[in-house]
Formats: sequence, structure tokens, C-alpha cells
Amino acid sequence: MKSERQRPDAAKGSGPAKATSPARMSGKQPAKGGTKGGAGSVRVVFLGGLGEIGRNCACIEVDGRILVLDVGIMFPDPDMPGVDLVLPDFTYLRENADRVDGIILTHGHEDHTGGLSYLLRAFPAPVYGSELTLALARNRVDEAGMASQAKFIPVRDGERRRIGLCDVEFIPVTHSVPHAFATAFYTPQGVILHSGDFKIDLHPVDGRRTDLARMGALASDPGIRLLLADSTNAEEPGFTPSESTVGATLDKVFRARPDRRFIVTCFASHIHRVQQVTDAAIAEGRSVSTLGRSMQKNVALARQLGLLHIPEQSLIDIEKIDDLEPGRVCVISTGSQGEPMSALSRLATGENRFFKLQENDVVVISAHPIPGNEWSVGRVIDSLHRRGVEVIHSGVDAVHVSGHARQGELAMLMSVTKPEFFIPVHGEYRHMANHVRLAETMGIDGDRVLLCEDGDAVRLDGNGLHRDGTVPGGYLFVDGSSVGDIGHGVLRDRMVLAEEGVVMAVATVDLKRGEVVGTPQIVTRGWAYDHDTEALLGDARAVVTKALEQALSSGSNDHENLNRVARKALGRLVGDRTRQRPMIVPVIVTV
Ligand SMILES: [Zn+2]
Ligand SMILES: [Zn+2]
Repeated sequence: MKSERQRPDAAKGSGPAKATSPARMSGKQPAKGGTKGGAGSVRVVFLGGLGEIGRNCACIEVDGRILVLDVGIMFPDPDMPGVDLVLPDFTYLRENADRVDGIILTHGHEDHTGGLSYLLRAFPAPVYGSELTLALARNRVDEAGMASQAKFIPVRDGERRRIGLCDVEFIPVTHSVPHAFATAFYTPQGVILHSGDFKIDLHPVDGRRTDLARMGALASDPGIRLLLADSTNAEEPGFTPSESTVGATLDKVFRARPDRRFIVTCFASHIHRVQQVTDAAIAEGRSVSTLGRSMQKNVALARQLGLLHIPEQSLIDIEKIDDLEPGRVCVISTGSQGEPMSALSRLATGENRFFKLQENDVVVISAHPIPGNEWSVGRVIDSLHRRGVEVIHSGVDAVHVSGHARQGELAMLMSVTKPEFFIPVHGEYRHMANHVRLAETMGIDGDRVLLCEDGDAVRLDGNGLHRDGTVPGGYLFVDGSSVGDIGHGVLRDRMVLAEEGVVMAVATVDLKRGEVVGTPQIVTRGWAYDHDTEALLGDARAVVTKALEQALSSGSNDHENLNRVARKALGRLVGDRTRQRPMIVPVIVTV
């Protein structure tokens, strides 16, 4: 693969739809972020996740030494055609690699771990997290052939461990993947508490609750100087229901359809959801089968770690399910996001090689679409209905709950932790803005709150919390094996090609004679036009010839100029006559 070389526009810039602050675009702050600071200096640098759901990444810096907190990916927006993944801009970390003491992963979701293999490619560093988190993160690192670059160090609930210049405490939180952590950093400027992705679930499936008691104890002694908290659901009032409520709904749904075959889809990392689906199915006398590579892998992993309990006799191979009565089967599948190649999408289109859906089947979609995936999920639901299948999704019954805290829980966290300063993290801008408003209602306002974005750095000192310049915080695009080579210009071209098509003019010019040889050819792709196209194409050939002849007779016969006049003439004609703006590509061959 290519190096993580970036074009200037990819390095600084952002996706076409993403606003980037003028300060960040101007790059007025050196990438090194300036101050290593004197003794006891503490900085937090945000590289991703503040302004989007995804690619979470931050640096906690004590006396110039860096701990990286999460290295996530983001899935591309519709205005990033052809982009596979979006990473945080690693420029700052690459340039300061010698100052990095470790990478800490809060939990196993891809928006926190998916970029690890790309960062480890730049420099090796020990990686800390719960056993499950590390196992999930490892999958991608192994796939990328980077396993030898990584040293994985598992940490336990409640453990406090020295990493670099800083003690880090790993505090249990409930979330939609087991064994997620909030992290407390003991710095010379006081404790920084990062919530991680969390909710306050009083009845979690594994009984492992968000440790509010520990956070409260920290708040009293030594006190929490700075709170960074998950903003995903900061727009939603009230409390996110407990994960265990989904189990009750699933029980009801299964019981009401005793003779029908069930296919339930959810995130493969949502081990507690898989547990509840399994429990509901087995309680109704069904056997369980897994479908989709990541579901099979994660179920095996979670059973091995003792986090998922399925009796051996209740598990059957997917190829054997046709031997059983429909009412004796429950398939747990990947594909809850409508991904085109996933198991559920293939079932919906009748292309799954293991089995075909039948009219009496019930499909339960036990997940919400991630923003941007609504359309794909909707299309899969339509296809399922076309097959006569009953589809139960969260709009039909309560078969899903979020893994993120709503306003009630966010307020509770602030009440328990009593932070001196607060910065919202993990959210679109509107989520973070709502989180700031919520903090105001809790009495944390004015200069005690900062609304930061990707690339912002802040400093914590005896006088308080201050902005401390910016570092490159734009999008780093991955397209196939190419990382960072896709700039703003490439994406703009792809959008034009996708929406308007291309019109090419191929002409041969004899420079000695100063004339156009033959008639230019007009070639189009993806360009829609009406019945008098032939006339238009004829006119196009004529205007290109005329423009080239004029340029030649005026003596300006360099290649660049000939291309420019041909593009301009053809573009004007096409624009005037069709009100369309396809990409115009002149190909001028000189002899
Ligand atoms: Zn998460
Ligand atoms: Zn997340």
C-alpha cells in the first residue's frame, strides 16, 4: 500500500459538506501543536469524533508525553463517492510519534478501534483495553498483517495503571458492546474523566453497571477537573431504556409466532443483544444458528471469553436448519445496516447460498440504522416484504434500544461527577451544542465549558481551561489500498461524473500548418440528452473546431491553451443548450 502521504487539501480539508473553521484551514498553528509546556502541563488534543459520529480519537498530554484515546473510523457520507473509510488525520501523531506512550481503547466499536491498523503502520505503540475490546480490535489489525506491530495489554474493571507519565483508571460503563470503559487520567492538573460511549443501564444483561459510585468517589476526592462526555443522544430527552427491555419484547414476539422461522439481525459486537435473542429463542424450544462471518466470529469469541452463554446442544449449523421445523429455528444474522454484501441483504435478494427466505418467515431487525444507512436499510425492508416476509423493526415494536445516554443520564453524570470544566465529545455539532445547553441547566456554564471541534487543542492549568491552538483535524480518506491520496478535487470530480456524466472532445491539430485535422469527435458517458442530440453533437464538433482554429490563427498554440479553449467552447454550448454541467474533457492530439 502507499504511504500515508497526503495532498494539502486532504490533510487540511474536510469532506465537501463538512465545515472547517478558518483557523484550522489556515493551519496557522504549527502541526507540532507548539507547546510541550513546562512541568505539569496538561493538554487535550481532539483529532476526531467532535463534529461527526465516527473516527473518535483524542490525545491526553502530560508534560509533552501523549496517550492516544481511541483510534476510530467513520463510514463515508453520500458525498464521498468511492471512499471506503474515513480516518482521523494522523499528521499530528506521526510528527510526534516519539512522544506517544500508548494507545487506550475505551471499547470495541469500530468508530473507536477501526483505525488502529492504520496508526500502527506509522509507528508501534502498546495498546490497552478490556480483553474483549482488544480481541475485537485485533481482528482488523490481523487482517492488515499488522499483528507484529502491536502489543496488546488487557486491563480489568477498576484497574489503575501507570501508562507513560500518567495513572489511568478504567471504570466500567454500560454500552452496546460489553466491557466498555470510562477512563480517568490522573494528571498534575487534576483528574480528567472521559465517559467513553455509555448509558446508565440499571439492569444490564451481564449485571455490570456503569460505576457511578466510583465516579462519585473521584468527584469528592480528589475532585474531577475536566469531564469529557458522550453527546450522541444529547438531543433526546429522558432516559435510554435498559437493554434488558429488549429481551422482554423479544420474548413476546417469539411467543406470538410459535410456528414460524425467525431471522434476527443485530450488530455482531452487540453480545448482550445476541444473548437475549438466543435466550428468547431457546425458551421457545428453538435451536440457534449464526449467519455472516463477523457474527460467527464474534459469537465464538464471546463464548470463549465466557461473555456469551449458549448451550452447545442449542447451536446448529446453518446448513442443517432446513432439517428442522420452522418453529424450531432462529437464525442470528449480520446485515442490520443494509450493507449490500451482508447476509441479510443476500437473503432479501434471494442470493444467500445457505437458505432461502419463505413466506412464513419473520425477520427482526434489532438495530437502528447508523446515520446515512437509513436508505439501504429501507431498501432491504422493502425487498423482505416483497418476499412476503413479516418484518419487525424498531418502528414496529421495541426490538432495539440505544447504547448511548440521553439527557437524563447525561445530567446524572454531571451531577455525580461535579466537574470543574466540561467539554462535550462524540457527536455531530448539534449533539455537542445541545450537550453544552444541558450543562448550563446543571450550572456548568460560561468559561467552564468549551465547545471544541476536530483539530482543536485545549490546555488545563492553574488558571483554568483554555484553547491552545489547532492541529490538522480533517478527513483522511481510505479508498482501496490508498490512504490519503484522495483529495477534495477527486471527490468533486466523482460527484460531477456521478450526477452529470462526461462529454469529451477528441481533436487532432497540425501545429505546423496551424489547422485542425479532420472533424473532432465528441464522446459522452453518463450524459442524458434528448432527441435533438445529433444536432447538438454536430454543433459541438463545429464549436470545438472553430475555437481551436481561432487559437491557432492567433498564434497561441501551446497544448494547455488549446485544451482550455476547447473546454470552454464546448462547456458553454452544452450549458446553454441543455442547462446541464457535465464534466468537459478535451483531448487534443498535436502532430
Ligand atoms: Zn460505541
Ligand atoms: Zn462511538
